[in-house]
Amino acid sequence: MSANNALHIAVLGGDGIGPEVMAPALEVLRRIEATSDLKFRFTDAPAGANNYLATGKSMPDSTVRLCEEADAILLGACGLPSVRYPDNTEIAPQIELRFHFDLYAGVRPARLVPGVPSPIVGADQRGIDLVLIRESTEGLFASMGKGVVTDTEARETLVITRKTSERLFEFSFRLAERRKARGKANGGLTCVDKANVFRAFAFFREMFDDAAKRHPGVKADRLYVDACSLMLVKRPWDFDVMVTENMFGDILSDLAAGLIGGLGMAPSADIGDRYAVFQPCHGTAPDIMGQGKANPTAMILSTAMMLDWLADKHGLESAAEAGERIERAVDKAYAGGIKPMEFGGSNGTADITRA
Ligand code: ATP
Ligand code: MG
Repeated sequence: MSANNALHIAVLGGDGIGPEVMAPALEVLRRIEATSDLKFRFTDAPAGANNYLATGKSMPDSTVRLCEEADAILLGACGLPSVRYPDNTEIAPQIELRFHFDLYAGVRPARLVPGVPSPIVGADQRGIDLVLIRESTEGLFASMGKGVVTDTEARETLVITRKTSERLFEFSFRLAERRKARGKANGGLTCVDKANVFRAFAFFREMFDDAAKRHPGVKADRLYVDACSLMLVKRPWDFDVMVTENMFGDILSDLAAGLIGGLGMAPSADIGDRYAVFQPCHGTAPDIMGQGKANPTAMILSTAMMLDWLADKHGLESAAEAGERIERAVDKAYAGGIKPMEFGGSNGTADITRA
């Protein structure tokens, strides 16, 4: 925090609908500023595919430095299908940030906002309020750019380390405890793996079991990823906090977003010991960009997660309150009949922001 106690926020709008959902999120934060004792200083920074086209850099050094200096980082979305690196890989500077800042915990809450249609029968009565924690620096993604491909075969390597897993599980148990303390949940944590087939996942589960012994207040569970996929669709209300490897988390978090209405409703945070990036789960949605159709709710809920993280980090009670106010405002908007185009309604970005 700077001298005048303003929270310095690095703002990376990115590409496609990234800037379109970032503007509403900043509008909400300015409203928070006007109605609380919180002060923000926003600094815009270039990153992404358009910047790569213009300058040859998808994540300029100046942007990385700005992120290092900031109290928190907000990111819209980066990458466009038509723009690729010379080796034909996707432009995904958000993944580079995860590695650079060692953001090992990808936190993906999936809460069904009352009034939003879920494809799951019974969800509107029973509710869905779970948090998926996706390890974000290793697992199968540790192989990114290192895969070996010949004419006859291709190999990628999955990596699970003790150092990262122990921090990941501590983080996960602590989150389960915080949710329980706030009366938000029953204090459960489910480890999702494939320990029956792969030794790497048996190692992952062993470390989870050790962490569970240090957190007797949390009900620790284990599930294989296949069984978990089935249960998530049949009884999503049974889950509280879940923790899993990078690739499984990538897939399950899209599934979880589907349970609560769509990607436009799903916020996320990539959190490390010191830094954190807050961004919606969705990508740049080139199919709807520039049409005012994007649902900004995921981005707005990501700012609520940012406020909650800042509150925890700096002991800022008013930031925690502001985060809860944003969640309540989202609930009120949907209870009041807002229906995004994303799920067949007629409300676009501007209507949803105003509501
Ligand atoms: P990435 O590779 O970055 O994960 P993706 O190719 O999986 O991106 P998204 O950009 O997330 O795809 O979009 C997937 C679908 O969801 C698209 O049809 C898109 O229009 C829709 N979508 C994503 N975000 C939103 C949003 N905020 N509002 C409305 N629709 C959205
Ligand atoms: Mg995707």
